[in-house]
Amino acid sequence: MLVILSGVSGAGKDTIKKELIKRMDNVISLPSYTSRKPRNGEQEGVQYHFITKEEFEQRIKNDEFYEYDLHHENYYGTSRKLMNEKIASGKIIVKDIEVNGTENLIKLLKNETKLVTIFLRVEKEELRRRLIARGDNLTNEEIELRLNRLDYEESKIKLYDYMIKNDNFEKTVNLIMAIIENEKNISN
Ligand code: 5GP
Repeated sequence: MLVILSGVSGAGKDTIKKELIKRMDNVISLPSYTSRKPRNGEQEGVQYHFITKEEFEQRIKNDEFYEYDLHHENYYGTSRKLMNEKIASGKIIVKDIEVNGTENLIKLLKNETKLVTIFLRVEKEELRRRLIARGDNLTNEEIELRLNRLDYEESKIKLYDYMIKNDNFEKTVNLIMAIIENEKNISN
């Protein structure tokens, strides 16, 4: 089963994903490849596999990605090989991916594996506060890029099975855990 978590950068997806892995048996992550630079505290192979733009473009030519997208001026993509290995392991994969990637993965994988898609919603002003407080040293321009993306991402909400207003961390984590438990019992 693949659980897709979307919502703009700063919606809290990464923290929520970590908490689900900690609290639930059989839940794993699937780091994407990206050409963006690691942030403070990020480790190779944990949040992402960090590669250069040139390496990324070479991997695109080699058809190594299920899907990829260029946003915030960087590439992000899902490796076919890693995804297939993890699906074959029978574990529940939680993947944090934006709306274009979700749309592509739904088309590609809906007949291959059970998919559950969840959109985490956050108000624009709250998002601005979180992006500033996050301590990633984002420039004003980078913050504006992410805020401008919010309207676009929200226009795609209808793609998703679930929409959660992420205004309380504990509530959101509990809701997602309940969704996963329920979906495990519903066949494709
Ligand atoms: P950040 O730079 O804040 O880690 O992530 C920026 C955006 O890239 C987030 O919305 C995240 O969900 C998205 N993202 C992460 N991995 C992938 C991926 O493999 N494919 C696509 N299309 N988007 C991704």
